[in-house]
Amino acid sequence: MSSASAQTATPTCIAQVALDLPVPRLFDYHAPELTPADIGCRVLVPFGRKQLVGVVMQLSHSSAHALDKLKPIAAVYRDTAPLPAELLRLLRFCSQYYHHPLGATVLAALPTALRRVQPVQPKSVTTWALSEAGQQLHEDAFPARALAQRALCAVLRDGQPHSAATLAVVGSSYRSVLRRWLAQGWVTQSSQPARLNPITTAADSAPTLTPAQQAAVTQIGGQFGEFYVCLLHGVTGSGKTEVYLHLVAQALQQGGQALLLVPEINLTPQLTGVFQARFPDIEIATLHSGMAEAERLTHWLAAVQGRARIVLGTRLAVFTPLPDLALIIVDEEHDSSFHQQDGLRYAARDVAVMRAQQRKIPVLLGSATPALETWHNASNGRYALISLPQRAIATAQLPTIRLLDTRSNRPEDGLSSQLLSAIEQRLALGQQSLVFINRRGYAPTLMCTECGWGAACTRCSARLVLHLRDKQLRCHHCGHVERIVHACPDCGNLDLKPGGFGTQRLEDTLARRFPAARILRVDRDSTRNKDSWPAMQKAIRANQADILVGTQLLAKGHDFPNLTLVGVINADSALYSPDFRASERLFAQLMQVGGRAGRASVAGEVLIQTQFPDHHLYQLLQRHDYAAFAASLLSERAASGFPPFIHQAVLRAEAPQIDTALAFLQRAKAAAPAADQVTLFDPTPAAMPRKAGLERGLLLLQSPSRQALQRLLSAWMPSLTALKSAAVRWHLDVDPLEI
Ligand code: ADP
Ligand code: ZN
Ligand code: ZN
Repeated sequence: MSSASAQTATPTCIAQVALDLPVPRLFDYHAPELTPADIGCRVLVPFGRKQLVGVVMQLSHSSAHALDKLKPIAAVYRDTAPLPAELLRLLRFCSQYYHHPLGATVLAALPTALRRVQPVQPKSVTTWALSEAGQQLHEDAFPARALAQRALCAVLRDGQPHSAATLAVVGSSYRSVLRRWLAQGWVTQSSQPARLNPITTAADSAPTLTPAQQAAVTQIGGQFGEFYVCLLHGVTGSGKTEVYLHLVAQALQQGGQALLLVPEINLTPQLTGVFQARFPDIEIATLHSGMAEAERLTHWLAAVQGRARIVLGTRLAVFTPLPDLALIIVDEEHDSSFHQQDGLRYAARDVAVMRAQQRKIPVLLGSATPALETWHNASNGRYALISLPQRAIATAQLPTIRLLDTRSNRPEDGLSSQLLSAIEQRLALGQQSLVFINRRGYAPTLMCTECGWGAACTRCSARLVLHLRDKQLRCHHCGHVERIVHACPDCGNLDLKPGGFGTQRLEDTLARRFPAARILRVDRDSTRNKDSWPAMQKAIRANQADILVGTQLLAKGHDFPNLTLVGVINADSALYSPDFRASERLFAQLMQVGGRAGRASVAGEVLIQTQFPDHHLYQLLQRHDYAAFAASLLSERAASGFPPFIHQAVLRAEAPQIDTALAFLQRAKAAAPAADQVTLFDPTPAAMPRKAGLERGLLLLQSPSRQALQRLLSAWMPSLTALKSAAVRWHLDVDPLEI
């Protein structure tokens, strides 16, 4: 960080600085010492009585403000290189498309460490290498007794720089020898950025590609250096990862960097391992929100400086500056975790496509159950479509799916007799079973058997979830916690019963039914500790668990070779959800979780407990027919005018009273400019009207034309920002995932 001179002898250089403030404009400062090469660098600027970190977006010779009112920037950070113009362009696009202030957008894309006033000190390691004079040494030149010197000489003779980690093998005295040699000029000392992952020697060899994989690699590999979006639709176990690995290898060969986006933090260690084994001498950066600040900075810098040639990360990684980016892959592209739900509300998959277009490179979207939007784009030819219709391992078949009718065969304690006996069979065979239920806790609620009272959150329109083990009732929406009540607050009845099932309750039932079985529960509660889920995965692979009970955490991406049975509990509720995307999500989720069964040589079976075995969703699922299901959903959506046939945006408002929120939305609607192709609906309370103590309303806008919608939003934003609304918090959600 260098101090800027306070005097403004040449007042014509003005920096337009992005600051993390909720106002849609940049801020002007005198910056006589900056040159165009400094665009994208971080600066410290005075703001009111504070100092803020910002990013220089542009330099100008004039300002809309009086020049003598402008303050000079306080300092320029030189600890990292400026953000490249290409990234700034992408962030400008995101700010415009999602109608989020540019400053807030730019600052949000930076690792937290770079948003702090304190300059960063990238981690480095000290290394030693033989100098030219030192190269002449030979270990035999030392007396036989000088063991440390002989050993050190032997290690350093390869001419490479070595860190303390490798030199320590020589013995504890290596430091004093090094000191002497440094003084004698035999070794040189330098400091280098620390490697993210150690070089390993034995590379995993690639299997021979199946013809379908080969065709995919050939087709996509032919598109390097061009903008090309390709949907890789591969059934679970079809070997999409292998296709990624081959394409990444090609990108590396051509001197490029590859960016791979994955939905879950949980999946990054596993995938990093696979990539590291395949590319043992390549530095791989991983980026996700669960990393410590300093660690994330180290990985980000390695990517930015081009040392890390592969970057694996969750949605936020889509904004990593990558000088040699040649390929983007979005794995499980349909996954909702690619959508950021606060601040800049973006969809990382869509940003990835935009980034690829700006940079003219291919982007590969992989999924067994693509988002309907993506499938639509692939069907109408906007995206290329490549299919992997079979599992990669010849002996691994897609699982058999059976529907268990719970009307004729009522489950006891949540589990039907067929499912229980199927689990029993697997236990006898030494194979693993997975019971899937998308509800953590003991039971979704605590109920009165007399009057029908159910424990509800006072701050949300939601039931409280019973967590029996912690003797708590918890709200999964706002985090509110209460002690378990023992009498009904409405009628005084002492007979309160859990209503419905959660993972803990099923775990208890299974433990009673199969006392000898080793049961492992995998949900957000049991994996709260950072290391517990990796440890559990290891245990599952090592066959130290017989029955897994888990939520969607278990559904995604994992490969458990001895898992042959999946039981699905309580999936039906999605069938009558008011959310038009619920059935799309259910189908994807069941395909994913079913895909965990029978991935190796033993055939897998999926048993779904349902009251609606004839429902076409289950019928098509049973045939593994994503294409038919997508076609039926698309025709439904076309008929009722839902996305992807129209484009949506939602203005959401929260206030202590619903009337305040709705009145704000009404005024917002009145302030909207007239627009031909855009429909503005009337403000309504949200599907979940109360959350964390605030009442929520929404105003839906839709249009058959994305451009028309965008034009209206752009014209509308200034008047929205100008609306006085002390009690109301509002934001705009473009392409919302949920209404
Ligand atoms: P997906 O991501 O499509 O669900 P994976 O990439 O996990 O599938 O692959 C499923 C399994 O098939 C893995 O165990 C993988 O090692 C194996 N596999 C992938 N490609 C091949 C191949 N060409 N030959 C043999 N095994 C393969
Ligand atoms: Zn009661
Ligand atoms: Zn709540």
